[in-house]
Amino acid sequence: MTTLADLTASTPGLPCRTTDPELWFSKSSSERALAQALCRECPIQLECAQYALDNRDVKGVWGGTTAADRRSFWDGRPWRFDERGRLRLECGSVSAYHAHFTYREQPCGACAAAFEEQLLAERRRRLGVEHAKGGSTTGYHLHRRVGEPACPLCLGAMRAASAAARRRKAGRGLQRARAASGAPASAETVNGAPAAVQPLALAG
Ligand code: SF4
Ligand SMILES: [Zn+2]
Ligand SMILES: [Zn+2]
Repeated sequence: MTTLADLTASTPGLPCRTTDPELWFSKSSSERALAQALCRECPIQLECAQYALDNRDVKGVWGGTTAADRRSFWDGRPWRFDERGRLRLECGSVSAYHAHFTYREQPCGACAAAFEEQLLAERRRRLGVEHAKGGSTTGYHLHRRVGEPACPLCLGAMRAASAAARRRKAGRGLQRARAASGAPASAETVNGAPAAVQPLALAG
């Protein structure tokens, strides 16, 4: 197996060998930034960065990464360099999806797909909850959101809710009409429902 030591020994013109090496260990952020920029031109940058990520005790700039950059990847998450040479989470996960917004950019296709997948799983989980309750209007809308026809339970709940809404609307219309004509409403209603729609309400 080729080690980083083999690579540095066999690769001529490494920037950290041809420039003042103190830049790579400087306390000055501008000097560290210069070292990082030089690393980006190095032919073994990826191997060097991976070495530093695998060996937590190394100090300074390695493979274009600072100690602080590397610390956020000590948990072993997959990484990549973005087009500006920044150490970033590899694309294709929900975390990487949110990271795109942190960097003020639109999510890539792989991250958007991962996010959609999670969204779908969450909607299916919520559907399970609604079905355990015997179906509901919420379930009806969730079915629509996952792109499928509603099941009989949720469809039934939606139809019942729509019918109830129609009855309420008809009742309010009747009350308004009676109020406009001056007829007393209280004597003709039971439990707040207009007499004309009571049989329907009781049937529902
Ligand atoms: S990536 Fe940077 S630190 Fe690593 S060998 Fe190249 S110049 Fe040196
Ligand atoms: Zn992405
Ligand atoms: Zn359903």
